[in-house]
Amino acid sequence: MKKLIFSILVATSILSCKEAKKQEVTEESSEIETVTKPEIKLYTFDGGDIGVNNLNLFAQGDTYKGDSLQLGNAFYLVKHPKGILLWDTGLPEGLIGNPAYTTPDGAFTISRKDSITNQLTSIGVSNDQVNYIAFSHIHFDHTGAANNFSDALWLVQTPEYDYAQGEEIKTNGFYAPDSFNTLANVKKLNGDHDVFNDGTVIIKSLPGHTPGHQVLFVDLPNHGPTLLSGDMYHFTKNRNDKIIPQFNHDIPLSEKSMVLFEQFVKEKNAKVYIQHELSDFSKMPKAPQFLN
Ligand SMILES: [Zn+2]
Repeated sequence: MKKLIFSILVATSILSCKEAKKQEVTEESSEIETVTKPEIKLYTFDGGDIGVNNLNLFAQGDTYKGDSLQLGNAFYLVKHPKGILLWDTGLPEGLIGNPAYTTPDGAFTISRKDSITNQLTSIGVSNDQVNYIAFSHIHFDHTGAANNFSDALWLVQTPEYDYAQGEEIKTNGFYAPDSFNTLANVKKLNGDHDVFNDGTVIIKSLPGHTPGHQVLFVDLPNHGPTLLSGDMYHFTKNRNDKIIPQFNHDIPLSEKSMVLFEQFVKEKNAKVYIQHELSDFSKMPKAPQFLN
């Protein structure tokens, strides 16, 4: 009898020991799960070229008087295990196959080489696979190919959406509301938005350039914290000089957003890519290559 009780005791203790080990393993693997970052890929595409013939538009006062500058116009796609986000779409596709177009006031000369459909095909993504579309803002050089994505959910700040519905936009040459008028699935945002709910892809509200301008933070598993500028700045010198373009929608709000942007960069230790800055564009691997 004694022997039997002993064996039961031993058996129980072996069992509980096994249980404990199992528990440990489970705890360990869940710990590993929480520290492993999701597989995110950031693709960079060419949304056209912008020759700025009158750079002083990007200044208050005469800082850039008589200067000109060649700008790029990147747009991006984020592949996350939970879905695909398209960030901006480049210049109007009507430019493709045509000579560079100079605006009537002579300020800008613009061109675009390839369609967004071709460009996404190069990474095996069809237009209807894009789950979310967001623009840094709705100036025409960012919404040019938007109507290809009418199935996607448009993530837009409420003030930007409201501006798009108003009268003023119709007479302001920086906007082309017809380029995004098929986007019917709308999620209006009132501030920062965590796109996939895990802190890795965050739309950050920084208004001023337009009523609902925003930037995109992507925490890449290898490259690390990455920040796409939208038009917070248009070129590196603009950022260094801390100068606000005269055509911004709201100058004081732009000044506030500039401070918040720089605070956020420090807080996240983020690498900044200015979307119109050619040297930043050339640093990025181009699709089908990607950053991860
Ligand atoms: Zn802009």
